[in-house]
Amino acid sequence: MLDVPMDRFNQTLDDPRLQAAIYSATQRLIDHRAGAVAGDRLPDYQALRTRANEIKKHTIENLDYYLEQLESNVVAHGGQVVFCRTGDEVADFVLDLAKKRNARLIVKSKSMTTEEIHFNEHLERHQLETVETDLGEYILQLAHQRPYHIVAPALHMTRYDVADLFSNTLGVPKEVEPENQTKIARATLREKFLNADIGVTGANFLIADSGAVVLVENEGNARLSTTAPKIHIAIAGIEKVIPRAQDLAVFLNLLGRSATGQPLTVYTSFLSGPRRAGEIDGPDEFYLVLLDNGRTKLLRDPEKRQSLYCIRCGACLNHCPVYRKIGGHNYPWVYSGPIGAIITPQFHGVTQDSWLPFASSLCGACAEVCPVKIEIPRLLLKLRAEVTEANRNKASLERWGFGAWAWVMTNPRIFRLLGYLGAKFWPMVPKIGPLRKWARQRELPRIAPKSFHTLWTERRRS
Ligand code: SF4
Repeated sequence: MLDVPMDRFNQTLDDPRLQAAIYSATQRLIDHRAGAVAGDRLPDYQALRTRANEIKKHTIENLDYYLEQLESNVVAHGGQVVFCRTGDEVADFVLDLAKKRNARLIVKSKSMTTEEIHFNEHLERHQLETVETDLGEYILQLAHQRPYHIVAPALHMTRYDVADLFSNTLGVPKEVEPENQTKIARATLREKFLNADIGVTGANFLIADSGAVVLVENEGNARLSTTAPKIHIAIAGIEKVIPRAQDLAVFLNLLGRSATGQPLTVYTSFLSGPRRAGEIDGPDEFYLVLLDNGRTKLLRDPEKRQSLYCIRCGACLNHCPVYRKIGGHNYPWVYSGPIGAIITPQFHGVTQDSWLPFASSLCGACAEVCPVKIEIPRLLLKLRAEVTEANRNKASLERWGFGAWAWVMTNPRIFRLLGYLGAKFWPMVPKIGPLRKWARQRELPRIAPKSFHTLWTERRRS
């Protein structure tokens, strides 16, 4: 029996305000994406998806080669590359660097990878202040919550929730207009940017043949985080590498459209190492931290390794009927929705939160909209088989139930006896035990007084 957290699901399902927030936000994203990839706007959309899939497949199959190429190009531009196996190793590296440079304040932007490794919590335990600078992430940091959605982290909160939060945590008057809320956040964050010692970002893409880190965003905070502080640390999963700068056009065409319906996000930044002589801005030091954290485990399986193609657009979440009902916080890890359902069991093991691959109707909507053509339903089926295999020897109600069923079906006398008893006592069944509640709104079909077997025998005798 799978350990499904039904109580948590029911809390979300029974909250009409939350249901409306999830439904309307995801519907907006669905509509915007549909308009942006329509045939008259992007006639070669399907060809782009195929090309994106080919590039990712090629890169993941030759990951060692491209990571080495990336490293040598980053170093050639004056940066340093640090390979980390775990989140702890990342935190140790940043703490050590902060100590050496006497840093106290870190500003952060655009990084699901740091959410994945609980980066802020690690650093705050060592008295380093870490401030999220993307508005959605900043709101969540104040609310002590993790992201609800890959591209819209505070999707579940209304402007009234934000007004209460700002008032309670920042001591400002309640302000319900989003523009004014942005101004409040900006006033606080500008000061943080100016005083920050280190800027930490993620990376949307890492270009192997030039050593560039590419960041796409709509707010401009990543630019401030990477140019105002003296040190810039980009923390990214090893799967973010792509071979060449010209491959980027394929992904930039798909990412914004699939995520928010924008042909291109407002800012696309290419960062290549620290500030050079003659440049007016940029950090003095640049570090690229490449994180494994379980990713190399996925490389072993030629089919499941396609999970690493993900460009975190969030389209599969918006289109998933399960995500749209249970929301983002009911998924056990920072990655929610269909992509979370396939990568979480692969990173953490299929026996932990083993219900996850089953949290899908297998309708295929996720695969249909995925810009890099990850075969999500196929991977879910594969993971379901692995969960079943891992639980094969575990005693469970389901296992006992099917065992009893097999025993009855292979013993004709028992089968006949139960048929006889069933016909006699069937009308009482809905009135007893847990079925009582279930049967209150349902009418059970009546069982025929004589079974087919009895009728057949009587007919032959007569
Ligand atoms: S799996 Fe595909 S659709 Fe889902 S977030 Fe990743 S790239 Fe986007």
